Order: sequence, then structure tokens, then C-alpha cells
Amino acid sequence: MRPIEKLRPLVLVAPLAGWSTPLAETPDPVFAGRMLGDGLAIDPTGFTLHAACDGEIIAFPESRHAITLRTEAGADILMHVGIDTVGLAGEGFEAHVKLGQRVTAGQRLITFDLDLLARRAKSLLTPVLVMEGCGFTVVRRVENREIGVGDVLMEIAPVEEAGQRSEFGQRESAEVGNETGERRRVRVALEHGIHARPAAHISRVLKGLAAEVRLSAHDRTANARSTVALMKLGAHRGDEVEIRASGTDAVTAMNAVAALLTAVGEASGGGGSSPTQQRTADQPVRQHAPMEMRAGTILSGVIASRGLAVGQAVPLGLREMDVAPNGAGVSHETSELERARSQVRSRLEAARPSASSTAREIIEAHLALLEDPELAESALSLIAGGASAGYAWRQAVRGSIEALSALGDPRMAERVDDLLDLERQVLLAASGNPDVAIQELPQDAILVADELLPSQLVALDATRLAGICLAAGGATSHVAILAAAMGIPALVALGPTVQRIMAGTALLLDADGGLLHVDPGAERLAAARRQLELRAAQRAAECEAAQRDCYTADGQRIEVFANIGSLAEAQAAARNGAEGCGLLRTEFLFLDRETPPSEAEQQAEYQQLAAALAGKPLTIRTLDIGGDKPIAYLPMPTEENPALGLRGVRTSLWRPDLLRQQLRAILSVRPYGQCRILLPMITDVAEIRSVRAMVEEARSDLGRGEAIEVGVMIETPASALMADSIAAEADFFSIGTNDLTQYTLAMDRGHPELAARLDALHPAVLRLIARAAEAAQNRKRRVAVCGGLASDLAAAPILIGLGVHELSAVPSVLPELKALVRKLTLKECAHVARQALEQSSAEAVRALGVHLAARDSEPQSV
Ligand code: PEP
Ligand code: MG
Repeated sequence: MRPIEKLRPLVLVAPLAGWSTPLAETPDPVFAGRMLGDGLAIDPTGFTLHAACDGEIIAFPESRHAITLRTEAGADILMHVGIDTVGLAGEGFEAHVKLGQRVTAGQRLITFDLDLLARRAKSLLTPVLVMEGCGFTVVRRVENREIGVGDVLMEIAPVEEAGQRSEFGQRESAEVGNETGERRRVRVALEHGIHARPAAHISRVLKGLAAEVRLSAHDRTANARSTVALMKLGAHRGDEVEIRASGTDAVTAMNAVAALLTAVGEASGGGGSSPTQQRTADQPVRQHAPMEMRAGTILSGVIASRGLAVGQAVPLGLREMDVAPNGAGVSHETSELERARSQVRSRLEAARPSASSTAREIIEAHLALLEDPELAESALSLIAGGASAGYAWRQAVRGSIEALSALGDPRMAERVDDLLDLERQVLLAASGNPDVAIQELPQDAILVADELLPSQLVALDATRLAGICLAAGGATSHVAILAAAMGIPALVALGPTVQRIMAGTALLLDADGGLLHVDPGAERLAAARRQLELRAAQRAAECEAAQRDCYTADGQRIEVFANIGSLAEAQAAARNGAEGCGLLRTEFLFLDRETPPSEAEQQAEYQQLAAALAGKPLTIRTLDIGGDKPIAYLPMPTEENPALGLRGVRTSLWRPDLLRQQLRAILSVRPYGQCRILLPMITDVAEIRSVRAMVEEARSDLGRGEAIEVGVMIETPASALMADSIAAEADFFSIGTNDLTQYTLAMDRGHPELAARLDALHPAVLRLIARAAEAAQNRKRRVAVCGGLASDLAAAPILIGLGVHELSAVPSVLPELKALVRKLTLKECAHVARQALEQSSAEAVRALGVHLAARDSEPQSV
């Protein structure tokens, strides 16, 4: 405990000449939101940073862009030169002092190159802060005026109120393991203590940091990166927890963990299956009476779609629709049901052509259920017994839900969602009413609901919808996927307290950090708005820059391509700077029809896509269909395990007539040379040889002189292990990390319970990729990645380091991906790739990747 006599007000002098500016104007939510501490920022005119007070230098990273002083009384003062300057890695900074040195107020600490920072940093604003949690607070500050070095800048004083002091904690030097570290005690303010969700949040927050952090409570100690260990602490609200942190970013880590533990108003619930999964026919959709929620409350949820949003709450009560049980005669109700179903069918069919591939999948699922003979029959028999059309439809749907729920298979959750959605659509059509609850959105609406159905989301005016906050739901639900595809930030599993938010309440949705701030105050909202403007400007700049070819900072060409599945996606890809298409999934042409598409039909489709790409390479993958996506005209033998059955090239070789047609269609696309052929699910060279023979046959039939490139997908462990012999037969490799991961880890890629563990950055998967890339390089073959990992920014440096030269990603991520690649050097990529291969878990690899990818936008790494 500090000696009380030392806890006196303390004057901080200006460390830098310039204009003193409110902290909220800093273009970074961490500083603007005072997450690291309170103070102000200086817009510098000078280029030498001096000490703001007497003290010892307790943090001074190698990048020399920030320095923390601890005063004798224990106040920690951070001076951070510019924003996002950590990425300069010391360039432009000259240190005049050393870590551990004692300095006096006004002493020269760092000199920096103001011109270089003006060009390379996000902002020159230099925050000067009293660090959150050190027991001191700002009592006076000099803002909005010109200041010179040594002028009075701030007065700080100890946090006087005893309760407040215990919440802010006390910190002393401590030993963690063998290293000197940080120690601090805080009182848990989380409504339900450290349960699953906050525990997960803590470990997630630490993923981007290197510090070792331990939490102790009730004589138990837990590694803060382990969710299970944290839960086992049994820490409840009001319990005192000790945080110990050591390592390079110990202070940042400790502050981040302390902020999470002391956040008030955290939602209850957490973990477990969503209410949708649990609901059966007898359980109506829940409603919560709105009760005002305290301003400043922070709720924690699961990230469904990343982003930041500021807006007003629009609660959406998913009311159970009233339906009269008794009908007005069998023939009347039968035709009513038919009318309602056909209205829904027409609407879905009309929406299908312009829908994105994700939305189209959902529409297809709804259409299939709408035509389900069992559902229709069971509704009709209820009508025959005297029920109304609406009542009969609901009972039929709920009966199916009950049957699906009884299977206990979590994969059925999506089907249950689809059924509920369809129930509502048909009931609305039968009632003749539009879904009034969601027709009129105010500008910047943040929808707050227990649940949201995909059809409701699609029906909303997306131009007015700023964000989505759901009490229930999962990160892989249809609504989550749709929201991500629409670019709308969304959090799910926020818990039922979210329903207490009143209409019109100001909300700050931080769907990058998993937090919802309720009525957070004008300053925070203004800072978030500025952050949004900056992001929009950054995105616009990235989109513009994306039109240029992509090279790493040291000149290595990396082709950034797009995966597409429709004309709309090809157009979006071209707009976002795709340098070609690395994967055209041709399945979209073959599904949901009575007969296969003819050669001419296919050729016309491919030709249209080639034109949309304006001559850039178009990689067309041959049909990758399997037993899990049955098509009526291709009856396949029943398979117990479709993922291991007739899939990809196996199906094509089993039905060579279909493959022949497809190859001919591809070979006819003009100009020759724009298209490449890609073969899915290859396991050995014999498969490639068989297809090549068919390509040659088709080529001579069509009289096409020019050869066409034939590449293979590396998406089975067999193909990765046999890559050397496969490279001798294939013109290029494209690594399908989705399947490669599921087959390597023996985890179904669609299994919701395994979703969090199915990480393609698992070292086992990376070792296979490394092997394939090396084999390709030995034969001078191109190596692309077209699986989901190519769209993962944290993976880009690692993949490039492993020898990948083409990334084929979802169109929306291309500008950001290109901007990232341009900042990387081949040398650092190779270094991080080598480290990644030596890790023992996907989490550890991800932490490395995140660290490098976020290097220039990681303000916490002070
Ligand atoms: C993959 O498996 O990574 C891949 C790109 O193919 P799909 O996702 O279409 O199976
Ligand atoms: Mg695949």
C-alpha cells in the first residue's frame, strides 16, 4: 500500500510544444474512449518529447514511440507520440533515455521526425494520460490552447473515495514466475461474476497481446488465456481478484483485463445453445417488458459480424402472431393456405436472381421447405379437421420442429430457424399484413431483439440499419452470415437484459470488441462517430488503392483474387480490385433444377462472368457436388458419410458425360487463355491424368489450338502429402483450406459445436500447406489459397511466408487485404511462418498472425 502522505495533487507539465486538445478528439477509440486512461492530447508543433513530471521510466518499447513514467507517489503517466506509430518500429524516433532510468520534469526523452510522422502516422495527436487503474485521476486540465514545453498541462490527484480506490485497484511491483511484472487488485463488477462469456472475452482480448497474465481469487490461480481455468476461479460479483501480468505489453494487458472485470451491467446467460435451438412447439417466442437500463451499461456478446456502429435502439418484439384456431370451411381455408404459400413462393423466387450467394442459399432452403410434401399434407389434414389455414400451418411447422429437436442434433438448429422463419412468412401472407414491426426504420437504427429471422433482415431497409444486437443466436446462424455479407455490424448472445433497452436509446455497438455500450455519453459517441468517419475514409482510400496490382513492401508480387459464385459477386469483385477470380464455384448452375445445364447454357454463363472480369483470369472449378447436396437428376447411392463419399472430381469421373459438357463449355469461352480449369478433391495423379485426357479430347473436338491450364485443389491431406508427384501433373495449386482443415482435424466443417475449434491456422494444417507450397516451388508451379483462410487477415502474412503467391478471398475483404499485403515484407512473413509451424495450437498461431497483421493499427501495444 502506498504511504498516504505521498498521495498529493501533482502537476504535469507539457512534454511537447503544440495545441492541447481534448482526448475525445483522438482518432482512436482506445484513447478517445479513455480505455487506457484520462488526460488530453497535444497536436505537436515541436519534435522533442520531454518528461511531464519526475519519475522512473517503467515502460519504453523498442519502437520508442511511447513512454510511461511512474511518479514517486505511484501515478503512471503515459506519453504516446502520434497514433498508430508503433508500426514505424522505431523509424524516425531517437531515444535519449533508457528503461528503468529516473528522469526529472522537463528532461528530454525522445526526439522524433515530425515530417515522417506527418506522412506515415494516422495522426500526430500525442495523448498524455494518467493510466487507468493507477489510483490517480485528472482534477484540472488545460485544453484548447497553445502550450509550450514546461507549461502547466494537468493536475492529477489520488482517487479519494475508498470504494472507488478499491475498484480501481492498487498496484505494486510483483513477481510473476521469475519475471518482474505488474500486479493489481480489482473488484469484479460483472453482474454474474466471471462466467463463460466474460471468461471468453478476457482470453480473446489477450490473444493479440504477448503478456503472461494470471488471475487469482479464493486461493486459486488461473491462466487468463484459459476460459475454463477462469471459470474455475468461481469469482462472483464483488469478489476481489488479483491480476498479475508480465512480459512486453503487461501494462496494456493488465488494463484490458481490469477494464473487463470492472465493466458494469454485463449480460447474464452465456454459453449453451440458443433459445432457438431449445424452443419446441409449445414454447412461444418470448417477450420482455422494456425496463430502462442504466446509462453507461456495457453488455458483452458474441461477434457475428465485425464493425462499429453508432445509432439509436429500435427494439423489435418478435411477437407470436395471433391466429384463430377455427377455420371458415375446408375449401376456403385450403385455398387460403394455397394463396399464402404461393405469395411467399413468388416473393422468394423474385428475390432469388439478385440475391447474394449467401442469401440465395437461404432462399433455396425456404423454398424447399415451402414445397415440403409432409408439411403441406399435415396442414391440409388439420384444415380437414376444422382448423384455420394459419393455425394448421403453424401446427404443422411446430410439429416438424419438435421432431427435429428430438433428434438432439445441433446441426438441425439451422433447419429449425428456417422453419420458424417460414412459419412467420406464410402467416403474414395469410393475414394480409406486412411485417409492420420492421417497416419503418429511423436513420442509424440499431435493431435490438431477442432473435431476428433471415427473412426479416432481408426485408429491412439496409440503408437505415446501422447494427444488430440480439439476445440469443449464434455466430454461425443464417442471420449472422447474412449480416456479415451485408456489412452490418452484429452481436449475438447478448443475453435477455438487452431487451430492457428502451426505443431511441443511444447505442455504441463495438462489434470488433464484442461490446454494446448503452447510452455511453456524448463524448464517447462523438469519438466513435469520428472513428466511423475515419474508417469510411480509410475504406474509400483502400478501395481506390485496391485497383492497383498488389506487391509486398519489399516488392514481391502477390496476386489478390476473388472467389465468386454469381454475376453480382463478379461485379463486386471487380469493383473491389480483384485481379482475377481464383475460384468460381460452378455448383450454382447445377442446383435446384430438373435437368443439368446444357453446354450452351454453361458457356453463356461463364462468358458473362469472364466479361465482368474484363479479361482478368477466371479460374473455373469443375462441379464439386456430393451426397450432401443431392441433385434430382443425379441420383447417387445412399452414403452414410457424404463428406467421405462421391464428392468433387470423384463425382465428375463417375458421371463423365457431365464433366465432358462442362469442359467443353469452359474451353469455348473467349478470349482463349482467360479461363483456367480447377479440379476439386484430388487425391492422386491418376485423377488428374483422367481429366487431362478428357480436356485434350474436347480441345481437339472443338479445334481449339491453345492449351488451357489445369490446376488442382489441395484440400485433402492426401493431395498435400503427395504434392510432389501431383505438381508434376498440375499447372498450379489452389489450396482449399475449408476442406483441408475438416479432413485434417476430422471435424465436420458444418458442425456448430466444433466451429470455434475448426481453425485453419492449426499447425497441422499449416504444415500440410507448407509441404504443398514447397513441392510446387520445386516445380515452379503457382500456389494459391482459395479457402476461407485467404480472407482471414491474420493468416495473410503466414500464408505469404509459406510461399503462397495468390490469395483468392471474398470480394468484400479485398481492399483491406491488399492494404495489409502492401505493408508486409517477405522477410517478416517468412519469419512468422517459421514460428507458426513450430506452435502447438491454432490459438498460438493466430496470436502471431494477429499481432503482425494488426501491427499498424494496434494502439494498445504501447
Ligand atoms: C475449400 O474447401 O477450401 C474450398 C475452397 O472449397 P469449398 O469451400 O467450395 O468446398
Ligand atoms: Mg472444398
